[in-house]
Amino acid sequence: MKRKLLAALLACTVATPALADVLIDNVEGLTIDENGKVKRFTALVIDDDGKIAQVLERGDRKPQTDFREDGQGRVMIPGLIDAHAHVMGIGIGALTLDLSDTNSLDEALEKIRTFAAENEARPWILGRGWNQEKWGLGRFPTAAELDSAVSDRPVYLQRVDGHAGWANSLAMEAAGITAATKNPSGGRVERLPGSQVPSGVFVDGAEDLMTRAIPAPRPVERDLAFAEAQRVLHRFGITAVADMGTTIEDWQAYRRAGDAGTLTLRIMAYAGGPENMELIAGARPSPWLYEDKLRLNGVKLYMDGALGSRGAWLKRPYADDPGNTGLPLMTGAQLRNILVRAAQGNFQPAIHAIGDAADAEVLNAITEIAESFPGDRRWRVEHAQIVDPADLPLFGQHGIIASMQPVHQTSDRLMAEARLGPDRLEGAYAWNTILSLGGRLAFGSDAPVESPDPFAGLAAASTRMDANGQPFGGWRPQDRVNREQALAGFTIDAAFAGFAEGRFGRLLPGERADFVLVDRDPLLATPAELRATKVLETWVGGRKVYDAD
Ligand SMILES: [Zn+2]
Repeated sequence: MKRKLLAALLACTVATPALADVLIDNVEGLTIDENGKVKRFTALVIDDDGKIAQVLERGDRKPQTDFREDGQGRVMIPGLIDAHAHVMGIGIGALTLDLSDTNSLDEALEKIRTFAAENEARPWILGRGWNQEKWGLGRFPTAAELDSAVSDRPVYLQRVDGHAGWANSLAMEAAGITAATKNPSGGRVERLPGSQVPSGVFVDGAEDLMTRAIPAPRPVERDLAFAEAQRVLHRFGITAVADMGTTIEDWQAYRRAGDAGTLTLRIMAYAGGPENMELIAGARPSPWLYEDKLRLNGVKLYMDGALGSRGAWLKRPYADDPGNTGLPLMTGAQLRNILVRAAQGNFQPAIHAIGDAADAEVLNAITEIAESFPGDRRWRVEHAQIVDPADLPLFGQHGIIASMQPVHQTSDRLMAEARLGPDRLEGAYAWNTILSLGGRLAFGSDAPVESPDPFAGLAAASTRMDANGQPFGGWRPQDRVNREQALAGFTIDAAFAGFAEGRFGRLLPGERADFVLVDRDPLLATPAELRATKVLETWVGGRKVYDAD
């Protein structure tokens, strides 16, 4: 049986070895080791379960294996792990209208018009990625402006941060929105100046008023979107993600892929709220399924919104909007209630908190609850963008993981300065401070809010400069991390944050053989070179899932 399989493998020109032990030879390998240090190696042996059997250094004797693959001296790094992404959002985003590259309202309207014309069969035009800040508009766009592009069908477009949506008149009509529509709790219906007439933009909790009117994607559409998401992520060298806000429908799509043998991405899932948590997993987190490819770890919660739409909850008013402190999306009592319920079932909470008031509320709630639920809980705060310096030590004191997205810092820098003013940036995107206070980091992208490209994330984490090298020397450079810490953030630390250490995240014996072949050494490259890293091949569990050729 084995011989027959081997013959079949050898017959392939592009070999995808499986179910045989394989020597991947002649690589410039590197990984973070058991002690958190960089270890270099030249070859790997993968067993027939797709796990690493041996890691060989220069001069080590090569074992006899069924199959040998020549790495041709290329650089091998561990498969990259995105600690905060929205998997279905990436897939659906890739299949719907993307406005993230538009630089003006007019350019966006033109793109919307073209997309609608090219997709005549779609009853709704859906998309995302607009940003009135990037357009230099100085205000939200309106339904009337959107009507000028598409007036024959409903259109609904999410803002780049996912915290606001822009509808045309037919979409508002379909959702039953009128001047009598009230602001829901935790949300705001934007109005035309001096009136109650909805202007077409729905912020945070008010988005539900619109999204419930949109026909849900069918399972077959979800499967297509998921397949697309896997392709996109593997192309960037990503082999595992923490999926933030998994719905029961998302979970079913992942399970269908697992059952069909087409699941190639490792997913650490955080259910979208307690209802999805119970629907997906019942009383306890799921076991690891499909050879460590899928697990429901916990629950994703929202304490506040985002800075861009001024939905982030601040201790003091916005510097550029006096009187507005943003919105908490739950009361402190609701938060504590859900945290206790989650902890009772051993579910891991991952709580979105961006503003300093939101972070303080979450950190304090965890501090209180951690006393009744000791042990290895790995409480996660997602984003932790603006933290009062007085609250920063709480991360280290209670083993709280700060799950942060380096590229947010470079994208948000100017906006954060405008929103907060100069005297409130001390605890902004404070990666190194959190580490030095004994806290733990995990790095991700928040894709599709940002590109999932982990090499941009590694560069931002270690320089605090954007793709244009701005600002020179880095923004608040004392909070950058070193290159090894950045790599750990996108590999082993991201695995640890999802209770997956020992399963994947490092290239060590016993772990899954998830690795990437790239065209340069990410620890030695300059920041510009690092950003330009080309992923040549991506492997998951000893199988090639992406090949640039
Ligand atoms: Zn997110």
